[in-house]
Amino acid sequence: MDKTQTIKASAQTLGLTHTKISLDEILHTAQENDYSHLDLIGYILDCEITYRQDKAREKRIKEAGFPYPKYLKDFDLSFCKAISKKQFKQLSELAWIDGIYNLILSGPPGVGKTHLAIGLGYQACEEGYKVSYTTMQSLIKTLRTEEIDRHAGVKMRRIRASNLLIIDEVGYLPINATEGNMFFQLISELQERTAIIITTNKGFEEWTEFLGDAALATAILDRLAYQCDKIPMNGKSYRLENRKSFLEEMA
Ligand code: ADP
Ligand code: MG
Repeated sequence: MDKTQTIKASAQTLGLTHTKISLDEILHTAQENDYSHLDLIGYILDCEITYRQDKAREKRIKEAGFPYPKYLKDFDLSFCKAISKKQFKQLSELAWIDGIYNLILSGPPGVGKTHLAIGLGYQACEEGYKVSYTTMQSLIKTLRTEEIDRHAGVKMRRIRASNLLIIDEVGYLPINATEGNMFFQLISELQERTAIIITTNKGFEEWTEFLGDAALATAILDRLAYQCDKIPMNGKSYRLENRKSFLEEMA
């Protein structure tokens, strides 16, 4: 084995993946820039750290289970009158995740609830938080099957270990008493441990209706509202306002 082969094998043994796969590039850069021994060692370690951080971030994003990417930078605040610049900045800074605050985004379809929730989730992944995204419908199915389905078990374990849980589309479909109780158990369990973002098309007075039980609805809302920002996003649909008409485009 020549020297580079030996070094690559040692890097692999030590788990220095970047050094192993990029040794030739590293040596090339060092030669081009006339690195001293110290420069080179520093460079190798820095590259390895960056590589690991990137990998860890990608893994967090993958495991969060977002249906598609949405970013805060693309969220047009001038369109969303419900949120002030200051509030948006505070939300983006994510201190509320450490403070275990919840966020309830309510409003009609198309106003940007899911965009904002996923955007905050992505930002949280970037900054090292463990995030889980689920729709309410999928969450209920997962809760129902967690004991018998391995995937559901894994998903629930991940949800319970998350710093931030996003539950999208709460209230779109009614749930029965057993499911309502499971949901309540989960919310109680996560209280004081996990920040939760809920998006819903229902006003609070309508929660009783889709949960089918006034006492349960009150109990769940009571838990969620303990440390919570409620943001009613009652503007116009971004989709409808920004839809491009085929005829307009052709004109
Ligand atoms: P909701 O979840 O409230 O039904 P979405 O978040 O799915 O709405 O938004 C619908 C579409 O409009 C998405 O493509 C989203 O990216 C876009 N959108 C909504 N609000 C905004 C906004 N304020 N700035 C940029 N895009 C927006
Ligand atoms: Mg949505």
